[in-house]
Amino acid sequence: EIGRKLFAGDVQFLKGVVAMDGLPPADRIEVCFAGRSNVGKSSLINALTGRKGLARASNTPGRTQEINFFTLGDDRYLVDLPGYGFANAPVAVVEKWQRLLKAYLAGRASLRRAFVLIDARHGTKSVDEEIMALLDQSAVPFQVVLTKADKVKSRDMEPMLAQVRKTLAKHPAAFPEMVLTSSEKGDGLATLRAVIATLV
Ligand code: GDP
Repeated sequence: EIGRKLFAGDVQFLKGVVAMDGLPPADRIEVCFAGRSNVGKSSLINALTGRKGLARASNTPGRTQEINFFTLGDDRYLVDLPGYGFANAPVAVVEKWQRLLKAYLAGRASLRRAFVLIDARHGTKSVDEEIMALLDQSAVPFQVVLTKADKVKSRDMEPMLAQVRKTLAKHPAAFPEMVLTSSEKGDGLATLRAVIATLV
């Protein structure tokens, strides 16, 4: 199917961007991944692309302040946004990244969808809602991707989904559909690949 074909093709790291003037031309359909640090973003990008070392699984504040661009096939970019919600990141670092993030989200015409990653064990937190509010303001449609589904007990699943649904109802830019994934077990990866492949 279409998603498998796209992701079986060429995926390459293009560049890490630290300022707006470093962005590549907006000449490809683009999707971005956002999430709290440790949510499983690197693991998900690696699992989606089948390339283990592609997204660096580094959680050190400072090393992860870049917007990383990957080329996907010949007409798409996959964009890895810096993880947010570091407990003890310096204020100046947080402010710099917020400025860059705001400028990127507000000014990127080719950005078709943001995926907001949420740890399925924890549901949404206030920092996630801050990103969602920013996406609303920037009119960037976003979809929640639940991560680490393999760690959730079945009886905890429905209450967690209800909590996230309640959050999404407050955000006009949110898609109501969520994608439940496990990078470990492979759940949801084909669905997410197909979503990315079919965006126009
Ligand atoms: P990032 O900071 O968002 O890039 O998070 P990482 O991808 O580095 O993952 C953080 C931690 O969660 C690591 O210890 C991963 O092995 C673990 N992890 C990520 N995805 C999964 C998953 O689907 N299932 C399980 N059980 N653990 C995961």
